[in-house]
Amino acid sequence: MKPVQRVVVLGSTGSVGVNTLEVIERHPGRFEVFALTASTRVEQMFAQCQRFKPAFAVMASPGHARDLEQRCRSNGLQTRVLSGSDAIAQVAADERADIVMAAIVGAAGLLPCLRAARAGKRLLLANKEALVVGGQVFLDAVAQGGAQLLPIDSEHSAIFQSLPADPAQWPHQINKLILTASGGPFRTRDPQTLREVTPEQACAHPNWSMGRKISVDSATMMNKALEVIEARLLFGVQPAQIEVVIHPQSVIHSMVQYHDHSIVAQLGTADMRVPIAYGLSWPERIASGASALNFQDMAAMSFEAIDSVPHRARFPGLQLAWQVLAGPVGSTAVLNASNEVAVAAFLDRRIRFDQIYSLNAHTLSSVQPGAVRSIDDLLALDAEARGAAARLAQAWSA
Ligand code: NAD
Ligand code: MG
Repeated sequence: MKPVQRVVVLGSTGSVGVNTLEVIERHPGRFEVFALTASTRVEQMFAQCQRFKPAFAVMASPGHARDLEQRCRSNGLQTRVLSGSDAIAQVAADERADIVMAAIVGAAGLLPCLRAARAGKRLLLANKEALVVGGQVFLDAVAQGGAQLLPIDSEHSAIFQSLPADPAQWPHQINKLILTASGGPFRTRDPQTLREVTPEQACAHPNWSMGRKISVDSATMMNKALEVIEARLLFGVQPAQIEVVIHPQSVIHSMVQYHDHSIVAQLGTADMRVPIAYGLSWPERIASGASALNFQDMAAMSFEAIDSVPHRARFPGLQLAWQVLAGPVGSTAVLNASNEVAVAAFLDRRIRFDQIYSLNAHTLSSVQPGAVRSIDDLLALDAEARGAAARLAQAWSA
């Protein structure tokens, strides 16, 4: 019998966090929840504490932690309640924890990821922004800590599942990585009308139910741009070896094309519990709770070139991935910071949907990364880019 694996879920109240807890709950002898962390949703966190009885629950702010603490005490729960970003990073590196699910959204998840990496955890990466910001510094921390970094993003999990088990083989065998993209809610929309898009429309994804930030990123295809950067870092391929194809049904989750032009793909229903279960149990496989694909009911699988004129006009942000990968180290952090500010401004109705791309392009041309040697250099660059992007958003919303 294997010992029970203790899991930390960073961002447990979010879409990936909740799906992670659902998979864990199916395997009580195999996993237990060691710590949960969240930003503001006290009610939901309290319900999770009642259900999973974690040793620690961490809220980002002291006020929310006090509310949670009170609820836990008056219901006789033993969970220790902590607050603040240091405490989040601390539970991610606790020596009693085996697996850390990184499901915080945005660069806010970078420091806990680094701590988990340095502490040698199995690190399940949903939080792509952390890798896009941390880049090689992040990968160095994984290597130095002896951590296992496993992808949770469905495309990267698909690629990981389609690659040979031995990463030493990857460089000799991979010709291309082909990332699929659903095209999001505006795949067929007249590009001229994108300026009228509301946050509600942008967050209504046809195939996946996700948090608001990644939903907006899927509508602009900035999500795919972040995923191109993520793929380059996770699999060590050159940017020119990464291709994106639109596949509206989200059945093929991504593919590897080998040197002999054979293509290996991973298919399944659009359910994050599949990549989550694989990350938790790798190299084994466990029940995920997802329904199976039914080919009898499947009408069609179709594909569209991303490089058509209307798609280039609909999704101008996608090419920023290759632009920043060709730029100085740190450019990916600038793009991510700008995009986080732009998406928040759009969700607050301060800028228009089509201005997300313009704001990112402007920030990239105004913020030039200097020498990047450490995580502090990257955090300084992140702050500088956020400042520049926020000033633009302010000017444009006036
Ligand atoms: P979400 O908005 O639903 O959840 C985010 C979680 O992070 C919440 O628990 C929130 O409390 C916490 N959080 C937010 N800001 C925080 C902060 N400053 N400090 C501490 N905690 C904070 O997001 P999501 O859709 O679950 O996505 C999470 C990550 O996973 C993102 O990076 C996203 O790109 C990635 N991802 C999501 C999906 C999906 O299906 N939702 C798929 C692939 C990748
Ligand atoms: Mg994805």
